[in-house]
Parts: sequence; structure tokens; C-alpha cells
Amino acid sequence: MESWLRKPSPLDIGPEQVDELLETTVTLVRKHADGVADGPVAPVSFDSDQIRKWVGEYDFSTPHSAESVLADVATGLTQWGVHTTHPRYFGLFNPTPHWWGVAGELLTAAFNPQLAAYSHAPAAVEIEQHVLRFLANRLGLPSPVAGSFTTGGAEANLSAVLIALTRHFPEYADRGLAAIPGQPVLYASAESHLAWLKIAHMTGLGRDAVRLVPVDDSYRMDIDELRRLHAADVAAGMRPFLLVGTSGTTGGGALDPLPELAACAAEWNTHLHVDAAWAGTVAFSDELRPMLAGIEQADSVTVDAHKWMSAPMGAGMFLSKHPQAVAESFRVSTSYMPADTVGSDPYTNSVQWSRRLIGLKVFLGLAVTGQGGYATQVERDTALGRLLAVRAKESGWHRINDTPLPLVCVVDPAVDARLSPAESWAWHSAVADKVVERGQAWISPVRLSGRAALRLCITSYRTEAADVAALVEEMDKARTAVGIPG
Ligand SMILES: *Cc1c(COP(=O)(O)O)cnc(C)c1O
Repeated sequence: MESWLRKPSPLDIGPEQVDELLETTVTLVRKHADGVADGPVAPVSFDSDQIRKWVGEYDFSTPHSAESVLADVATGLTQWGVHTTHPRYFGLFNPTPHWWGVAGELLTAAFNPQLAAYSHAPAAVEIEQHVLRFLANRLGLPSPVAGSFTTGGAEANLSAVLIALTRHFPEYADRGLAAIPGQPVLYASAESHLAWLKIAHMTGLGRDAVRLVPVDDSYRMDIDELRRLHAADVAAGMRPFLLVGTSGTTGGGALDPLPELAACAAEWNTHLHVDAAWAGTVAFSDELRPMLAGIEQADSVTVDAHKWMSAPMGAGMFLSKHPQAVAESFRVSTSYMPADTVGSDPYTNSVQWSRRLIGLKVFLGLAVTGQGGYATQVERDTALGRLLAVRAKESGWHRINDTPLPLVCVVDPAVDARLSPAESWAWHSAVADKVVERGQAWISPVRLSGRAALRLCITSYRTEAADVAALVEEMDKARTAVGIPG
């Protein structure tokens, strides 16, 4: 026997060490969860050189004990990062992940199912498809629906553009954009998520192909402006193929008028995509679902499970009413891949090839807490959002957005009235920085149609009414510290 065959595998550590490793990890995870609320939401500052020096200690020349490395990594993550799991993280749409999701990630990593081919992981594929069908049903999309789990909303939106191009321009699939007479253009609101620009770049459409339609006073797409832009494009020989409605814009939570958009899409024979990355989760609440009215008319939809559904990152969901166009967009066959069993090999129906089981963490959340659990959560969060709006108003902050979603954008009225847009941005940014620096809450500045504001979003299921009150106190202190320009 060759000598290397007598050596044990260095990766095969055996059951006792596995137990120890998992216990160590669980202890660290619990310690983080139990302690995070007592520390600052974000580091006051960080020094990348220091972080690189810390990680650079691992030059991989000598092995370390797993326990020591894990503890060290947990310390680094604690010290140098914004804690989206903190109950007073009122930030971007990053959730505190639910525990079923954390457990699901462990199970997924350990079983490591390969979802490229259906026959490799039929149970895993069916788990994902079951969740996607349930979501489609709650959104009112007719079956059959094609769907896939994605890394996030950006990949789901990329899928939408590919499918819209493939549906609209039969020559696109084989001969590409160059074969299309005229420049294809798409429309999304000026407040939409700007992944559309990257997607236009990636697909070869070019960034100029994205028409950012002006918004009204509520930051919703202005349909008259859309009609004007569309008419001008058609007159100029452009080829409109896609309308995007955003249900819950990232900046201010605006809900574009979907029925009007659907009417335009029908009139112009364009694909309608609804980007409900954050707010799509309200579909689980009978009370709040009417906010999404019109979404059932979409040709495709994006919902992120790693936002309001509180699944750990990354978990996006893409749904489409056009299974044929989806299959046409991602078709391929190779000799080395197992043959398609039921016509639903994920690698021939989505962007990714090798793919992890993304949907288990989402399935577990739904299976354990039920649709009712999610309904309660989104209703509770919207109530906290209303409380936040009231509290902020009582403290003299003026709200500038009017969404029913728990995303409140406020300005100091004196600053907003007296300072130039650039100065107002600098002032509101300074207030947000001051809040973050004090460590008790995390908020960010935002521009809505160019107007500077503080963006306050309920994103953690750990957030309570007392946290909302504490946030407004912190904002008041920050305002005093920064000072109102006389
Ligand atoms: C977050 C977001 C996206 C991008 O999703 P990722 O999960 O970050 O890739 C797209 N659209 C909207 C409206 C979003 O809020």
C-alpha cells in the first residue's frame, strides 16, 4: 500500500471532535444572541489595518484548535460589525434571523444536497417548490408557476430581465441583443432598487436602457410620467419590453400603483415584474395583503425571504407565470449531468448551476410557526412602525413618507426648511452618525427624491415598544449634540 493511503484523512475528525465542535459553536451562537443587546449596535469606528493584522495571524502554516479559532472569529465578528440581530437595529432590511433558519442552515450544510439536478435531491427540490407554490398562492398568482430560490433579490430581478427579454424578443436567446432591431428599454421608478442598473450592465442592455420614472409626492411611480416616457421611447424607435413595479421601495417603503402598471403592461404588451423584495411578506397576513393588490397580475415577482421573513441570508425567491419562458431562458443540456427526470431540473430553470438548498430555512419557519406566525409578525411590526411615527412626531420630527409599511422617514422641520439639500443631507447624516456613535441604536440617512431624511425601519422581531421609545430619545440627543443651525 502506498504510504499516503495509510494516513488518516485530516478532514475526517471523528464523532467526539464533531460533538465538541458543534457544542462550542452552539455556545458561541447563544452567547452572541444573549449578549448582543447589551453592547453597541455597531462599532464606533474600525481600523481595517488592525482587522487585517488580526486575521493575518492565521498564515495557515500551523494548525489551530477549532475551539480557539471559532472563539476568535466570534470575537472579531462581535467587535467589527453592525449587529443586525440587535433589537435596536432600525436599519436596512436585514433581519434578526429566526432560530429555525439557523438550525436549517446547519442541516443544509451537513447534508449538502446538490440541487442542480432534480434526481440528485428530489426531497430538497420539492421542499423548495412547495414553499414557492405557497407564496405564489398567497400572492394570488395562478398556477402553474415557475419559481426558484435565489441568492437574493438582485438575482431574482436578473432572472426577471432575462425572462422578459426571452419572452419579448424570440431572437434574443440565440442571436443576442444585436439581433433585436432597436434598443430594448425597461421602466422602474426613480425610487426603485438600483440593482436594475447592474442588471442592465450585466445583460448587455446597457445602463442607459433603464428608464427611472419620476415619482409622485408619495414616492410612488408617476403613471403620467411613465406614459410620457414610453410614448417618447416608442416614437424614437426604442423597444419597451419590461415594466417594473416596486412594492415597498428600499428608501421609503413606497408602493407603486400596481393596477395602473398592469393596465399599461397589457396595453403595451410588455412584461410586468413586481419587486416586492421586502414587503412581499405581508402576503401572509389577510389584513395587510391588500397593500399588494394588483401583484396577481404580474408576470413575475421577487420576494426576499432574508428580509421580512427573517430567514438568514441569502434567500431570495423568484416566481414567474411563464414556465415555458423560464425553461427557454435557462435551457442547456450536457452529457455529464444526470438526465432530467421531471422537466424541472433547477439548473435548467434558473441562473445558478450547482446550488445549495436555500429554501429549507424558509420552509422550517413556515412549518413551525405557520402562516399565522408570519401574519402576526408583520402586523406587529406595522403597529410598531405606527408607534414610531407617533413618537417621532411628539418629539418634533416631521415624517415625509406615508407608507403603511413600518418604514418611517423623518426630517427636522427647521433644518429641512432652512438648509439647502446638500446642507440638509450633511446635517441628517451627522445626526444618524451621532446616533450610531452613541451605540444605542442604528439608523441611516436617506434621500427621497433628493430630500434628505433619517430612515427608521422596523426590521428585527426582537424590537419592542421600549426600543422604539429609546430610538426616539437617541435621535433627540443626537439632534441636540449636532445642533440646529440658527
Ligand atoms: C433589497 C432589495 C433588492 C435587492 O435584494 P438583495 O437581496 O439585496 O439582492 C431589490 N429590490 C428591493 C426593493 C430591495 O429592497
